[in-house]
Amino acid sequence: MIRAVFPGTFDPVTFGHESLVARASGLFDEIIVAVAAGVHKQTIFSLEERLKMTEKSMPQNNVCVESFDGLLADFLRARRCRIILRGLRAVSDFEFESQLARINKTLDGDIETLFLPPSQEYMHLSSTVVREVAMLGGDAAKFVSAHVAEALVQKVAPCR
Ligand code: ADP
Repeated sequence: MIRAVFPGTFDPVTFGHESLVARASGLFDEIIVAVAAGVHKQTIFSLEERLKMTEKSMPQNNVCVESFDGLLADFLRARRCRIILRGLRAVSDFEFESQLARINKTLDGDIETLFLPPSQEYMHLSSTVVREVAMLGGDAAKFVSAHVAEALVQKVAPCR
């Protein structure tokens, strides 16, 4: 049974996340999408909202969505999992991602971080860009599922 954890903030979940998980779901027996409670980050969606949206966007039978708080290494150990799955979009992601991988390896020598390149069309897509487009009144439906685009409109409308 090979299980991988795909951690992130998912604020909100985008086509990039969906595509990466869809591809990875064919490579592993099970994927746990771990939504960070986000105490270290200011998010526009609450943890409950991010969990619900991420669950709806990832319908594969071998994918489950859970929240986590605290150290990712502890979450992996609790789930008896050794693999962290991350997307690696551009060179600019590399420095942070390799640092994160090294730190997790130092915390727990059993952990391996695997990187998947995004599909070409989502190479430059990030939750940050999606939030900015929505806040400026753009159509986020080009980057996220319809249910997420709707939630974004509801969320940013009062701010505009
Ligand atoms: P974090 O705050 O941990 O960076 P994100 O929700 O932004 O959380 O990203 C979670 C994971 O999804 C990361 O591994 C990131 O590289 C990956 N990811 C983000 N956007 C894309 C995309 N467009 N294509 C593929 N993977 C992506």
